[in-house]
Amino acid sequence: MKVLKFGGSSVANAANISRVIDIVLGQHQQDHDIIVVVSAAGGITDSLIQMAEAARSGNDSYQALFEALCRKHQEMIEELLGTNARQPVQTQAQKLCDELDNLLQGVALLKELSTQALDAIMSTGEQLSAQIISAAFNYRGVPCTYVDARELIQTDNKFGHAAVQIEATYQRIAHAFKQQQGLSVMGGFIAADQSGVTTTLGRGGSDYTASLLGAALDAPIIEIWTDVDGVMTADPRHVKGAFPLTSISYEEAGELAHFGAKVIHPKTMKPARLKNIPILIKNTFNPEAPGTLIDGVSKQRQHLVTGVSSLANIALLRLQSSSIKYISEISARVFQALSKEHIEVLLTT
Ligand code: ASP
Ligand code: MG
Repeated sequence: MKVLKFGGSSVANAANISRVIDIVLGQHQQDHDIIVVVSAAGGITDSLIQMAEAARSGNDSYQALFEALCRKHQEMIEELLGTNARQPVQTQAQKLCDELDNLLQGVALLKELSTQALDAIMSTGEQLSAQIISAAFNYRGVPCTYVDARELIQTDNKFGHAAVQIEATYQRIAHAFKQQQGLSVMGGFIAADQSGVTTTLGRGGSDYTASLLGAALDAPIIEIWTDVDGVMTADPRHVKGAFPLTSISYEEAGELAHFGAKVIHPKTMKPARLKNIPILIKNTFNPEAPGTLIDGVSKQRQHLVTGVSSLANIALLRLQSSSIKYISEISARVFQALSKEHIEVLLTT
C-alpha cells in the first residue's frame, strides 16, 4: 500500500486536480493499492479561519466569504464531473456547506469561537476536497473509496493541535485497510477525539496524516507532492543560488522543517522514521524533477552544510533579574506561561 499526499496548491482548482489524478493513475497501473491524502484546496483553511473570526466579531462579511467558498467547490465539481455524474457529490458538498453555515451562525449568535468550534469549521476544507477528488477519480473510471479521516485518526481533545493516540490510530488504520483495497482518498489534517468530536492536527498537518497512514500500513514509501522541487538548501525567495537536495536524512529534514523550511510539516518524520519508511518529496507541477528522498541513510556530501533555514516573526524575550538565586524558579514560570499559550520556544540561553 502506497501513500501519496497532495498539498493545498496541488488541489487548488479543477485543472490542478486533473494533474493530480494523472499522477496517481500513472502509478496505479503498477501499484493497485494507493491511499491519496489531500489537503483542503489552497487558501481554503485560511478563508475558513477568516470567516469564523468575522462571525465571532459580529462582522457580516463572513457570509460573502462563506458563499464564495461554497461556489468555488460547486464550480470544481462542475469542471471535474460530467452533468450526469455530479448529483451525489453535489449533495454531499451542499450538506457540508449547510453544516458550515450552521456553525458560523452559532458562532455569530454567541459571539464566541471556541477552539472546538474552529476545528469543526476548519475540517470542512479537507472534507470537501477529499469528497470531490474521490468523485473525480470515479468519474475518470477508476473505482475510488472516500475515507473519513475522523474514523481512523484518533487524538486527544486539545483542539487546534491535537495529539494523535498512536496505538489506537494504527489499529484502526490497519483494520480499515485490511478490507479495503484499490484506490482510496482521505482528507489530511482532520481527526476526532475518543468521543468522535472533530479535532485537527495543527496547520499544515496533512503531511503528518500521510506519515501516520504509511507507518500504520508499513508502506514501502510515503510521497509528499507539493509545489516545489523538493527540500531546498535555503529559501529560494531569499537566496538566489538555492537548489533542491536530492536526498537527506530524517534528522536533517526534521531540523530544517522545525526551523522554518516550509516544505514539510515537522511532525511528519517521526512515524516514518520509526518504521524506516522513506519519504519522497515531489513537485506536482514538475513531476520529472527527481525530488528529495528523506530516509535513514547517512549522507556523504561534498558540502559540509546541508541547508540553511530561516524563520520570520520571531520574538526575542530578555528577562533580567538582580539575583541569580531565583533563576530556575523564574525559568520554570516563564516556560509554564509560554506553554499555556502554546508558544514554542526555539532557543533559550
Ligand atoms: N489545510 C490545512 C492547512 O492549511 C492542513 C494542510 O494543508 O496540511 O493548514
Ligand atoms: Mg499545506
